Amino acid sequence: MYKAKAYAASSPSSGLASTSITRREPTEHDVQLEILFCGICHSDLHQARNEWSGMMPTVYPCVPGHEIVGRVTKVGSAVKKFKAGDLGAVGCMVDSDRTCPECKAGLEQFCPNFTLTYNFPDKHTGGVTYGGYSDSIVVDEHFVLRVPSNLDLAGTAPLLCAGITTYSPMRHWGVTKGSKVGVVGLGGLGHMAVKFGHALGAHVVVFTTSPGKKDDAIRLGADEVVISRNADEVNRHAGSFDFILDAVAAVHDINLYVNLLKRDGNLTMVGAPAEPLPVGVFGLLFRRRSFSGSLIGGIAETQEMLDFCGQHNITADVEVIPIQKINEAYERLLKSDVKYRFSIDMASLKSE
Ligand SMILES: [Zn+2]
Ligand SMILES: [Zn+2]
Repeated sequence: MYKAKAYAASSPSSGLASTSITRREPTEHDVQLEILFCGICHSDLHQARNEWSGMMPTVYPCVPGHEIVGRVTKVGSAVKKFKAGDLGAVGCMVDSDRTCPECKAGLEQFCPNFTLTYNFPDKHTGGVTYGGYSDSIVVDEHFVLRVPSNLDLAGTAPLLCAGITTYSPMRHWGVTKGSKVGVVGLGGLGHMAVKFGHALGAHVVVFTTSPGKKDDAIRLGADEVVISRNADEVNRHAGSFDFILDAVAAVHDINLYVNLLKRDGNLTMVGAPAEPLPVGVFGLLFRRRSFSGSLIGGIAETQEMLDFCGQHNITADVEVIPIQKINEAYERLLKSDVKYRFSIDMASLKSE
């Protein structure tokens, strides 16, 4: 075991502050990374403040962060994929059982025995896992991704959650050249969906409540922007979409978007409203439309996504902050005051 620097919440209302945590020394299949950048995901804030107490109660101290990019500092004797000096990335999972049908299908995100990157029982230490708001992390090589060398690292970090969360359902539902794709909500997830849809050759329509985001949506790769409060403008697209990705985490009128799907079209939720959404079943029956959800992606698909980003030079649009600004960043996140993701420069932790 060794001591690592980190930023942790010590209670739901404490905010985050500098601390030191214990990590395991790399075992034979482990990779140790010096963390260079860590993106800030809305889940980090929920977990730090124990807002998911019903489902995943927070164990304190809590070190969030699951959008991690770093440099390999040490590898175990059996590690084949990495050597010291390589770039590596870690997303929302750090382990799974590798034996269940989901793992065998390469869908570790649905493994009943997976280990999440933070606030999850840690098989090695007996405590909970600690995430990326730290100067280092030790992870089994199967859960460490290779990073294409041409990508900006600050903008690469958010690909590990926001990126794969939007890429995976697009691939699953067959978005391709000529598809008509809707993206509801232009935030951390939505802006990645626009970039992926555009790079896959789709015609991308962004639905937003903010007229001020129009120019930005076009810059990101949207072909059209629809102000979702304008029912006439929305209804002009009735029955025309192959696929719609909905990244809105607040309760909203889902049937408005179901009705925009063509026959066999699909609407996938990646936003997670706390309250149930009433779905009008007739809207689904008449054109055999489907309504579904999606959760990150498996390890193989996450690697595919990173390689796709390397080929198309795709990264997240980020505002880079020092770790000392983390509490301020959380407050701004609550107001959606970021374009479009915060990325923490972990070199700032050295001065603590
Ligand atoms: Zn996340
Ligand atoms: Zn499994």
